[in-house]
Amino acid sequence: MAFALLVAAWSFTGFRLEAEHDLVDKNAKVRQEGLATIVSENFSQVLDRARLLSLVSAEWFDGNRTDAKNRLAAMRSADRVFLRIALYDEKRKLVYASSPDSDSETLSDAIRVSLEQPADAGDPILRVGPISTLQEKAWQVPLLFPVVGRDGKVQGVFLAVLDLGYILDVYQGVDIGPSGAIQVLQDNGDEIARARQGGLEYSHETWGTTRIPRGQGGTQSLITDLFADGHADIVSYRRLDHYPFLIVISRNFEELLSDYAANRARSKNYLWLFTACIAGLTVWLVRSTRGRERLFDALVAADLDKQQLIVQLKDQKRHALELASNDTLTGLSNRRMFHEMGTSHLTQAKRSRKHYGLMYIDLDRFKSVNDTLGHHVGDLLLQVVAARLRSALRESDVIARIGGDEFSVLLTGLDSVDDIAVIAGKIIQSISQPCPNLDGHELRVSPSIGIAVFPQDGHKMEKLSRHADAAMYQSKQAGRGRFTFYDPALNPTNDRQFELEQSLPGAIANHELILYFQPKVRLSDLRIVGMEALVRWQHPTHGLILPGEFIPMAETTGLDVPLGDWVADACCRQLAQWQAQGLAPIPVAINVSARQLVDAQLPRRIAGFLASHGVDASLLEVEITEGSLVASIDVANKVLHDLESLGVTIALDDFGNGYSSLAYISTLPIHTIKIDRSFINDIRNNPQNVAIVDSIVTLAHKLKMRVIAEGVEVLDQLIHLKTIGCDEVQGYLLSRPVPAEAARKLIAQSILTPPQ
Ligand code: C2E
Ligand code: MG
Ligand code: MG
Repeated sequence: MAFALLVAAWSFTGFRLEAEHDLVDKNAKVRQEGLATIVSENFSQVLDRARLLSLVSAEWFDGNRTDAKNRLAAMRSADRVFLRIALYDEKRKLVYASSPDSDSETLSDAIRVSLEQPADAGDPILRVGPISTLQEKAWQVPLLFPVVGRDGKVQGVFLAVLDLGYILDVYQGVDIGPSGAIQVLQDNGDEIARARQGGLEYSHETWGTTRIPRGQGGTQSLITDLFADGHADIVSYRRLDHYPFLIVISRNFEELLSDYAANRARSKNYLWLFTACIAGLTVWLVRSTRGRERLFDALVAADLDKQQLIVQLKDQKRHALELASNDTLTGLSNRRMFHEMGTSHLTQAKRSRKHYGLMYIDLDRFKSVNDTLGHHVGDLLLQVVAARLRSALRESDVIARIGGDEFSVLLTGLDSVDDIAVIAGKIIQSISQPCPNLDGHELRVSPSIGIAVFPQDGHKMEKLSRHADAAMYQSKQAGRGRFTFYDPALNPTNDRQFELEQSLPGAIANHELILYFQPKVRLSDLRIVGMEALVRWQHPTHGLILPGEFIPMAETTGLDVPLGDWVADACCRQLAQWQAQGLAPIPVAINVSARQLVDAQLPRRIAGFLASHGVDASLLEVEITEGSLVASIDVANKVLHDLESLGVTIALDDFGNGYSSLAYISTLPIHTIKIDRSFINDIRNNPQNVAIVDSIVTLAHKLKMRVIAEGVEVLDQLIHLKTIGCDEVQGYLLSRPVPAEAARKLIAQSILTPPQ
């Protein structure tokens, strides 16, 4: 590209200079030819007048001597170009002269030749007499005209001495440059005089004969070394029509081109400068591209390090969790692990048609075993029960000991609810078998089992556990060693979750949702630079409910989309209201769920909310989570780009928990990274977290993204974040989420200082 540009620039300049060169050449020729024509015309007119005098002198020989003398004297005195006129008879005797002078020998010879060889029709009408070599007379040109009588015979010769200086003087002022010359040449090429800017010069012996091509009429031009000085001249010349003279106008060709040469040098200098600039630019571009590539490689390497650190951290966490999640006595999962694994199974259960059952198993009268035979035997019994449970169930079922003699089982992926009863019977039968040799004792123990079935008895582990527990008490009350399915009629609990699930769809219509706002504070000056809108549910009976409780509920039922629309609309309304109250405009972020992000219509609806409240799109920010990018990434990508082209900015919330790399994220239109609060939480104590936060900040900055830390609760965290260059913070230390009116006061106050 740069090379092509240079070739074009050089070619163009080359063509332009050549055209200019031709033009200079042509202009000079036209100008010089014009001058040659003018000088020739002028000279011809003078010669015509001399000829007229010669015709008048013919009267002398016709006998009218007095008349002839008077007329000649009158005409000469009126024409100062003739220094002297004289008339000779056929014997070369002077018969009339305007002034006395001693004629030279050579003049006499020339007169003789004129008498003897009168001009024929084709020949010039006059002859040029001898020109004096004396400097003071060198400008005097004797012109000899044969005087012809009525009978056609030559009767004498008329002499007119021409003052060349008088003629050429006129042209001294013509600007033909320092080297320019106007020359008067004889027909044979002998130079008589030349006029230059410096003055007139007249023929002297050193001047040679100038070779000008013969036989051409009119004005001609050629380029030749006219003065044999090794320099080319541009020469324009004209032969006089009837007289033996040539007028030559010349100028040194180099001098003529000097203006053009200066222009050409200037053009070339510019061209070299341009070439140097382009070359410099190319080198710079190549270097900066390489630099950028190196930077990007460094980014990717640093990003890999970050991911490895995260993986390492997760491994350690999992290991610690394993240690903390197993029951050391039986090797089964403990309550916490059971809850986690159960939750994950239920998430899958929502997408499958299979049946799931949660069992609570309590060993009847276990306490008395412990009390009478000791804990040692009790422990052995528990281990046997665990082993029997394991062998009665499948790999895919989850088994845990959740308390002293309480076990819990999650039956997964069953084809029919009836299978649950079969398995429960099998468990009772297996556990109820005698246990021989428990430290020398043979014991028998029976289980009481309570069962809750997904989904009719609940969607969540908490609810299913509660209901299974209730059913287990039913079994105990009914006489032990049996299983009971949960029956709501027998256990009418005040189920908050159930109630919330029921009333959530009406929450929007009943105007029960409200927005709280939490400020985002810039670390450089502690100024509030944004707000995050966080939804709350003002429930008529349960009071203020946090989103952690009802957003997941909304997400499972698809209500998150209308809820998200309500939030976006309410946020725009609030922005417009603050604007109307005269507050400085401040961007507000809304949280967008995974389902909203794959809704191609979202950008259009958001544009509608902004427009209907007259709010600028730059005041709205959208927070998405890494998790929501996993599903339908293509649609999500399109939605994000559409939002960006509206002017809405995009933040990646809770960053660090997922496995997405910043290099991948940099391909999406994301402007801000919000570091998850789990990293900030123990930033002071956990060196791995410090390294991760540090690398996120550095990388995000290199990718031109803003970084916010969430969940800043203590001053140390804030100081640490400021030290590593984090841009903004959000957290309880500076302000909890507050209702709109309190938020307005915070915005008006503008600066938030942390309590010391
Ligand atoms: P998030 O977007 O990460 O919001 C930050 C959460 O952290 C908020 O909880 C906020 O109160 C809490 N927080 C802020 N500073 C601190 C702190 O210093 N320490 C601690 N421990 N917590 C802090 P909140 O309001 O309960 O919201 C929880 C989550 O619910 C939000 O997390 C967001 O994912 C979701 N959410 C909130 N509003 C909406 C919404 O309108 N739509 C959707 N889809 N999700 C929402
Ligand atoms: Mg958020
Ligand atoms: Mg967050």
